[in-house]
Amino acid sequence: MQDYDYDIVTIGVGPAGMVISAMGAEMGLKVCAIEKNKLGGECMNVGCIPSKALLRMAKVRHAVTKFPRFQMEEMRVPEIKNPFPSIQEKLDFINVKKYAVKFAKVDKIVGEGAARFIDSHTVQVGSRKISGKRIFICTGTKPALPPIPGLDSIDDILTNENLFHQQKMPESLLIIGGGAIGAEMAQAFSRLSCKATIVQMDPHLLPFADRFAGEQLEGIFKKEGIDVYNSRAISRIEKKDGRVVLTTKEGDVLEAERLLMAAGRTPVLDGLDLEKAGVNYTPKGIPVNGNLQTNVNHIFAVGDCNSNYLFSHAAMHQGMIALMNIMRPWPFKKDFRKYVVPWTVFTEPQISAVGMSEAELKAAGIKYDVFEANHEDYGAAIAEQVTDGGVRVYASKLGKIYGASVIGEGSAEMINEWALAIQKKIRLADIMLLQHSFPSMSFMNKSIGESWMMKLLQVSWIKRMMAFMMR
Ligand SMILES: Cc1cc2nc3c(=O)[nH]c(=O)nc-3n(C[C@H](O)[C@H](O)[C@H](O)COP(=O)(O)OP(=O)(O)OC[C@H]3O[C@@H](n4cnc5c(N)ncnc54)[C@H](O)[C@@H]3O)c2cc1C
Repeated sequence: MQDYDYDIVTIGVGPAGMVISAMGAEMGLKVCAIEKNKLGGECMNVGCIPSKALLRMAKVRHAVTKFPRFQMEEMRVPEIKNPFPSIQEKLDFINVKKYAVKFAKVDKIVGEGAARFIDSHTVQVGSRKISGKRIFICTGTKPALPPIPGLDSIDDILTNENLFHQQKMPESLLIIGGGAIGAEMAQAFSRLSCKATIVQMDPHLLPFADRFAGEQLEGIFKKEGIDVYNSRAISRIEKKDGRVVLTTKEGDVLEAERLLMAAGRTPVLDGLDLEKAGVNYTPKGIPVNGNLQTNVNHIFAVGDCNSNYLFSHAAMHQGMIALMNIMRPWPFKKDFRKYVVPWTVFTEPQISAVGMSEAELKAAGIKYDVFEANHEDYGAAIAEQVTDGGVRVYASKLGKIYGASVIGEGSAEMINEWALAIQKKIRLADIMLLQHSFPSMSFMNKSIGESWMMKLLQVSWIKRMMAFMMR
């Protein structure tokens, strides 16, 4: 049998590569993790974590400036005028103090260049050659730059890769793209006193979400002074007198100090020399089977680079499944596609969903009922002044749950209950019978179960039966 330097080699140490290498090493495997930039990948360094830190600062400022007497006070807080250095400080702390412990048992090659395949079991970084019995490609994605006329003439385009390293808040920001990144950054920048404008070709914000959710967010953005231009085709972007000027085919002329591109993602596959390993790929990513194997059995593609779901939790989950599968015999292997993927957009209100959307249900011809519970009707939400939002669930007459959206306070936590319900085939009757602590926001989940029961009781034969029982 051939000897390899390592049991496992991971290329890229974002959420996917982190789970595989740290868990693999804990399980006693010999692991080498190669990362060309920083441990933690996009999520930790230029994605989820800094974006949520920025949103938190923006939320605080927004709350404070509602009270005029605090306005002078907040001007003295340097983080709020320039939030970026403090975010970088926290990231450095995590990198140095926390990751050192997490990856203690992993052989790391960090910041020494990109890995590329020499053959299907060997990769090269600089002059080092490393062989692995199994190789996990976890290289993620990068911002897509669509071919918009004039875009190459803008020399200071912002993307998530440089956004959190800025030294000052721009006075105004044009954002191309109304998905999760565009929407979150529009609200964060706007609340930190930058005029934010979103331009996108989709008909509503968060195009992957139910229309009502995107429209609700847009209503809130309007109230906060964020302009949203939907269904626009951009004809040109250029710099005039130091300002970014964007024109659309619909006749809009918009200008701002800076431009943020948040118009989709491209898998990072260039430079990997996948051909030398015989791995198939397309411009959309590396195709994988349910075990996350590529066409070459001992090479896996995990996380965003396979383009299945572009979320950190999905990347981590895939990493865990792929690692468990290499230790399991065939009948016990898990198929990563069988697990539901909830998601949250961390605007205020937060928007989360899981399972089928209304559009998907319609397209699939599935009959469903809609059950809703709104924050504005729930005492705790009224008292806590968090009345924007609600829970909406699509289910069958007998309470089979197809999909759920939760908007507003508690959303990112509440959606997990619906994810569990869909994954474990739990019905609305079970949700109704589960005690929920009160007055939590997730108590609204329980009231969805109660609405379903009330509706069921309206069915004539059940009504007659109830009347009979009450005699
Ligand atoms: C602004 C923003 C906010 C986001 N917010 C959220 C959120 O709130 N929740 C959520 O779930 N997701 C969020 N995401 C998405 C999330 O960041 C990604 O889904 C996640 O990082 C994917 O993990 P990954 O491990 O597949 O890849 P990545 O995190 O992209 O990591 C890939 C790593 O591979 C390295 N690499 C690439 N090529 C090579 C090579 N040849 N050799 C060595 N190393 C290489 C890269 O340097 C990188 O570190 C956000 C993304 C952005 C941009």
